[in-house]
Amino acid sequence: MSAIVNDHPTEKPRSRWRTALKVSLYLLVVVLLTLLTQIGGFVLVGATLIVLALRTPRRHRWLATGALFVALYAVASLTLVPAMATASGRIALPCSRAPEASVSALSLLTCALNRHYATPSVASLLETMADDLERPLPNTRVRYLDAGFPFGWGMPMLPHLSHGDGRKVDLAFFYQNPDGLYVPGLTPSPIGYWGFEQPRPGDSQPCAEAQGLSLRWDMAWLQPLWPGLTLDEQRNVAMLNWLTGPGRAHGVTKIFLEPHLVERLGVSDPMIRFQGCAAARHDDHIHIEVRS
Ligand SMILES: [Zn+2]
Repeated sequence: MSAIVNDHPTEKPRSRWRTALKVSLYLLVVVLLTLLTQIGGFVLVGATLIVLALRTPRRHRWLATGALFVALYAVASLTLVPAMATASGRIALPCSRAPEASVSALSLLTCALNRHYATPSVASLLETMADDLERPLPNTRVRYLDAGFPFGWGMPMLPHLSHGDGRKVDLAFFYQNPDGLYVPGLTPSPIGYWGFEQPRPGDSQPCAEAQGLSLRWDMAWLQPLWPGLTLDEQRNVAMLNWLTGPGRAHGVTKIFLEPHLVERLGVSDPMIRFQGCAAARHDDHIHIEVRS
């Protein structure tokens, strides 16, 4: 009897700690989903409220909430979100798995995370550029990485410093296989990011001595894992020349590219800039900004 009486004071605080831990983890997941997808946190809260309203047995709540979240997120992302985004001035960029698609996301993960929204001007620019590049360079396929979120709530799209307004999009480089043949839609990294084109001996390296907190990740441990693809210089030069030439009339205002690639590709232009040492590297992709 005395053992039972003595147990109570230790069990209650433990139970309270467990509840606090669960609530903290839940809130962390809501925040992470919001940062990753913009709508995911709201959908998870909605799914949780529905599961609670249906008086789902406690032991099934986590599973039921997870399953309902996946279903609601998929339906919202495919129907409601594109329609609402269009009404607020952003459209979904193409998300096709077809290799022959002239413009598409490099990875469907980009679309699954709702990071493929941009202004109509950006969409039109990509389509026109793809058409113009394909005429002299057959089979050229334009692939984009992160663009923007569906809604302009002033929310940044981490880890990017500037992708909050729908006027920015990251473009994949074009690559060749070891035989020197263009490989449409392929990049060293499956998501396009972090497969860096390294500076050659003697190239400009303005961040070689940079120190301090920064989003300039080198991911050195990842580099040996990527397949041996090399830059298709002809296609990349053609893309950059288009962006600094006809692209100007389509509203291109700024392009980020690492200095060593500017030199190697010979594409100097006032619009092509170095992003500085505190932001992400731009020798795994090109960042462009459009006026509207
Ligand atoms: Zn960018």
